Amino acid sequence: MTKGNINVSVDNIFPLIKKFLYSDHEIFLRELISNATDATLKLKHLRSIGEIEISDSTPQIEVSVDKENKTLRIKDQGIGMTAEEVEKYINQVAFSGAEEFLEKYKDSAKDSGIIGHFGLGFYSAFMVAEKVEILTKSYKDEPAVRWICDGSPQFTLEEISEKTDRGTEIILHIAEDSTEFLEESRIRELLLKYNKFMPVPIKFGTKKETLPLPEDAAEDAKPETVEVDNIINNPTPAWTKTPSELTEADYKAFYHELYPMQFEEPLFNIHLNVDYPFNLTGILYFPKLTNGLNIEKDKIQLYQNQVFVTDEVKGIVPDFLMLLRGVIDSPDIPLNVSRSYLQADGAVKKISSYITKKVADKMVSLFNENREDYEKKWNDIKIVIEYGMISEEKFFDKSDKFALYPTTDGNYYLWNELSEKIKDNQTDKDGNLVILYATNADEQHSYIQSAKEKGYQVLLLDSPIVPHLIQKLEQAKEKITFARVDADHINNLIRKEDAAVSKLNDTEKESLKKNIEEAVNDTKFTIQVEDLDSTEAPFIITQPEFMRRMKDMQATGGGGMFGMSGFPEMYNLVVNSNSELASDILKTDSAEDKNSKIKYALDLAKLSQNLLKGKDLTDFIQRSYQNLSK
Ligand code: ADP
Repeated sequence: MTKGNINVSVDNIFPLIKKFLYSDHEIFLRELISNATDATLKLKHLRSIGEIEISDSTPQIEVSVDKENKTLRIKDQGIGMTAEEVEKYINQVAFSGAEEFLEKYKDSAKDSGIIGHFGLGFYSAFMVAEKVEILTKSYKDEPAVRWICDGSPQFTLEEISEKTDRGTEIILHIAEDSTEFLEESRIRELLLKYNKFMPVPIKFGTKKETLPLPEDAAEDAKPETVEVDNIINNPTPAWTKTPSELTEADYKAFYHELYPMQFEEPLFNIHLNVDYPFNLTGILYFPKLTNGLNIEKDKIQLYQNQVFVTDEVKGIVPDFLMLLRGVIDSPDIPLNVSRSYLQADGAVKKISSYITKKVADKMVSLFNENREDYEKKWNDIKIVIEYGMISEEKFFDKSDKFALYPTTDGNYYLWNELSEKIKDNQTDKDGNLVILYATNADEQHSYIQSAKEKGYQVLLLDSPIVPHLIQKLEQAKEKITFARVDADHINNLIRKEDAAVSKLNDTEKESLKKNIEEAVNDTKFTIQVEDLDSTEAPFIITQPEFMRRMKDMQATGGGGMFGMSGFPEMYNLVVNSNSELASDILKTDSAEDKNSKIKYALDLAKLSQNLLKGKDLTDFIQRSYQNLSK
């Protein structure tokens, strides 16, 4: 038997381990299973390069709890350790054997998937255990040994004869304050959280399985149930395979494996696979962004060599993709570091821009492969795409190939198609292309209608970030301007050759304007007498584009640029001088009648802008009934 002191410079590191890792005690299990996995993969590696010969079938890791004896046991069938190795790897705390192994087998071990170097390692066991035993037997022909440590820097190490099979057993004598880890349900929860996709099968208890009846079974034969190992994990999750090995159904099945509580099917997936200049694999899914969307749970999960690390992927995944789901697995993402460090890290930045590029490429191919289907999905994905266009320059640069601009008629155009379509008849007096849009097909119905009657295209842009998108497009594209259909009278937005001739002379128009100003008597409205077609509405309310857009931007968090005070409401009241009502108002002698006509027409104009509300609406309805029975 050897006795000795663990080689650390502080007197006792265990209180330190407990204290500093307090919030995350549960990760000890992940660490120990990672070690067991490493030991198993190392064995597999040595076998594959012909350094050892063994005839094991598939080595497992077994986790078991013994509530009575207050122990938790993790047993593997990996390479095990000799007494000398225990001394070296376990006793010298800061010494990572994983690193040494990789160093030694540098070239051949690169792809063996060895986890190691999590930084916390074996000693995290002391966060939950008052005593830890290691029983281990190396694959080398040497006796098994037992190492025991009770949380003080003293340990014992002795040869034992009772362990005859190769591998390592870690026995944790769970401390009084950590008895939760003796509950089967708690351990199962942890295994499913951290180890669900680890590469070595993990057995936790047994389960009953019903055997299928043989074909020639008698009518009344009962199926037989047997007790089988309960394997908690899927050692070969979809993202570890190549896209050519997977069908659409496989991708969907994996989505549900990842998010058992999600019943919707994902819209499509993006398989990530890169090995230079960093290693990264993964599958991202575009979920259907329905109203009950719960972004807080079912987020993108980050793995390192199939070990779950976190689902806080901010910084690694660009912001606009945070609404996606799926997994990312990379050994190159630094773990256990602060978020701000993560954001500044060069490798992480590269990962983020790789993902952005990959998503853009996928959009292009989805669009090219099946445009019809892509158009159908556009409403569900547009928020993500539009957000990406505003926030990632590189994504914006590629967006001409996949961003769609839907019209109120249900056509979907790429940018170039749209500009081609409108270039001949939708320009303003300065020669800019005027892109008319609506944000709500119902509320802006009459305006959309009159633009369409004049043969113009009207886009339907209804996501909340559209004001920002429009601003971005106006900055990036040459000679274009966006105008909502109700921003001004259409004749003022788009240059028209054949202006209507005026029925009224200038003096008449002046007095009409004055009449209306007096009757309306509201500084929110600027009166604008225009020569429109006689068939057009007599009164039309418009909202100047700039002011309205600023207000919209503020509402959707446009950087809080003008504080909370907001913009004043401002409208134009366009009066059609060629309408019958205009002449009628002028001809009406009684001031009272004139007033009530104007007010009534104003209410109608307000109605079509959704501006007539509350008491004004009630009064309007009352007045209309009275008029009916007159
Ligand atoms: P790391 O895993 O980061 O290298 P640990 O402190 O967890 O650090 O483990 C130290 C070393 O002890 C490992 O690198 C490995 O050589 C050895 N070791 C730990 N657990 C096992 C195990 N289950 N089987 C074989 N060797 C192990």
